[in-house]
Formats: sequence, C-alpha cells, structure tokens
Amino acid sequence: GREWRLQRRPVGVPVPEDFSLTEVEVPGPGPGQLLVRNRFLSVDPYMRGRMSDAKSYAAPYGLDEPMTGGAIGEVVESEAEGFAPGDLVRHGLGWREYALLESGEASVLRPTEGVPLSAYLGVLGMTGLTAYAGLMRVADFRPGDRVFVSGAAGAVGSTVGQIARLKGAELVVGSAGSPEKVAWLRDDLGFDRAFDYKRGRVDEQLAKAAPEGIDVYFDNVGGDHLEAALGALRLKGRIAVCGMISRYNDTEPAPGPNNLVRLIQTRGRIEGFLVGDHADLAGEFHRDMGPKVASGELKHRETFTDGIESALDAFLGVLEGANTGKMIVRLDHS
Ligand code: NDP
Repeated sequence: GREWRLQRRPVGVPVPEDFSLTEVEVPGPGPGQLLVRNRFLSVDPYMRGRMSDAKSYAAPYGLDEPMTGGAIGEVVESEAEGFAPGDLVRHGLGWREYALLESGEASVLRPTEGVPLSAYLGVLGMTGLTAYAGLMRVADFRPGDRVFVSGAAGAVGSTVGQIARLKGAELVVGSAGSPEKVAWLRDDLGFDRAFDYKRGRVDEQLAKAAPEGIDVYFDNVGGDHLEAALGALRLKGRIAVCGMISRYNDTEPAPGPNNLVRLIQTRGRIEGFLVGDHADLAGEFHRDMGPKVASGELKHRETFTDGIESALDAFLGVLEGANTGKMIVRLDHS
C-alpha cells in the first residue's frame, strides 16, 4: 500500500516537495493486531501545526515517517480479540491505504442506518464534538443568544451555526469565503445572515448583519474576524477560540486584536479550547445530535477527493477553502 510522508518542514504555505507518496510492504497482523484497509481519510487544518516543529499540543510529524490522522476502514485480517474481518473501525492511522493497528488503537464503528460512513469523520466525529463542546460548554451558549461563527461553511463552523439555531439562538450569523458558501449557509442551513469576508471589511459586514451585537463568537479564523467580534461583543459576551486558520501559514508573529479593552467594557470572556479535553461530552453529544443528523434536521456536507494520491491536494485545499463542509479523501479499492 501507499502512504504519505513528510519529507521536510514546510515554511509558509506547504508545497508538494515537502511530501512524498511512498509504496510500502505492510506486514500481516501479529498477536493483538489488526490490518485495516482504509476507506475514508480525514484531512484537517491542525495537521499544518504538526508539520512544523514549533512547540504545540500535538507532537510534530516525524520526517520521512508516515503522517497520521483520522480514518475509517475495514478490517481485512485480525489477530485481535473483538475485531473480525469485515468490521468497520475508526482509528488514527490515516494518510495511508493500509493501517496495521494495535487493538487499543481502533474502535469498531456501527453506523446508524441512513447515515453515511464518512459522516463519522465529520459531523458525528471529532469535528462535530468540537462544534458542540465549543458552543455549549466553552461559550456557555444559552437560548436567546446572538451567535457569530467564522469559517462557517467549513466542517466545524457549519455544525456550530446549526446547533445554535436548533438550541434557540436569537440570531445566527456566519462568514465564509465565497458567494456559493454564503448562499448555502442562508438557504440550506438556516443561518439568519451570512456574508463573504473577501468582499469587504469584516467589522463593517458584521455590524450590518448583527446591528445589536453578539453574545457569542465561535472563532475558527482569528485576525480581522476576532477583532471584529470583539468590537461587536455585548455585555457578558463569550468568545470560544477554536482555531485561527488565517494564521497557520504565517512565518512571522502577526499583531493581535487592537481592541482587547472591549473585554473590560463588556465584562466579556475569551477562552481557547481543545476538543480532546472534552471527550466526556461525547455521549451527550451523540444522544443529543445523533438523531438530528439521522433525521436531516442537522445537515452535513462532505467535499470528497478520490484516491490516496489526492490526499495532499485535499489537505492543501482545506487551507485554501476548496471544501464546503468536511473535506474527506475517499479510497476506492474496487
Ligand atoms: P474547515 O472545514 O473549516 O476548513 C477550513 C476553512 O477555513 C476553509 O474551508 C476556508 O474556508 C477557511 N479559511 C482558510 N483560510 C482562511 C482565512 N485566511 N480566513 C478565513 N477563513 C479561512 O476546517 P475544520 O472545520 O476542520 O476546522 C475549522 C477550525 O477549527 C480550524 O481553525 C481548525 O484548526 C479548528 N479546529 C480546532 C479544534 C480544537 O480542538 N480546538 C478541533 C478541530 C478543528 P473559506 O472559503 O470560508 O475561506
């Protein structure tokens, strides 16, 4: 099978020469192991951080070693109790066609009827839990809140806006990077207002979309978006910092928001979070949101690329907004 390796640490925007696609011999499973043929791979913005060796919460990818990431596959051979050929499993050895796993590294996936498998890497996977934990717990969402989310047509953002609407937000505003994405938010996902951040200043567009201000800002982007949200914050407003994708390729530290004094004026709160710290919410999240995904009340969309050779472009595409909803690499072995 083939696997993607990091060959050198990208500086700024990653380029194809930073990576290699390598053919490797995958051994059969030893005692306690299983061999999995991957069917869906997740590519995510946080992987950009793991490509650099700057100090962070996740260990950097090793050079000339296969990269890792969320994946769903099918067991082809098993020497591990609890796993049989044909079982579907979720695990962390993505970026490759075949994964040799210790039994503790995989969990059997039993998809709900009518829910596509790939949704378990997105709306019903890590990204869905990120949206739920960030909105409900970190931003302490309450019915009647006015909510703004950036990166709103992405995997996390599209889920945040819909959860807010389903939970009784007074106003849901999203920003995204194209007219098609903005139309999707308004026409299909039920956002009250949405704007294209490339078509004008974020602070001006936000002021128009939420003239009375916002109680909650769910930040996926940082930069101008964070500054605009601080400017629009209402009394006791909450900002959950999930990501700052506008900064991930920076080679120099960028200036911070110039209006942090707003936190004093509003007695507001800003808090960063990591989904990994909120695993205890997974059960509640699935009970609460699982049925809404199955019924179609909570919508999700995937942007697929096909074949292991497409994984790098899929990843680079996520950083540039090529995706609407969750970006997924589909491996077709037929
Ligand atoms: P998305 O599906 O949202 O994909 C990333 C999107 O970011 C792109 O589609 C693009 O859309 C947008 N984008 C890229 N560059 C910029 C820019 N300069 N300004 C504004 N938007 C930009 O990815 P995810 O849903 O997986 O992740 C969303 C955010 O959440 C990321 O910041 C990620 O790091 C973070 N995250 C954090 C977690 C945590 O535990 N804290 C867990 C999971 C994700 P557009 O066309 O609109 O520009």
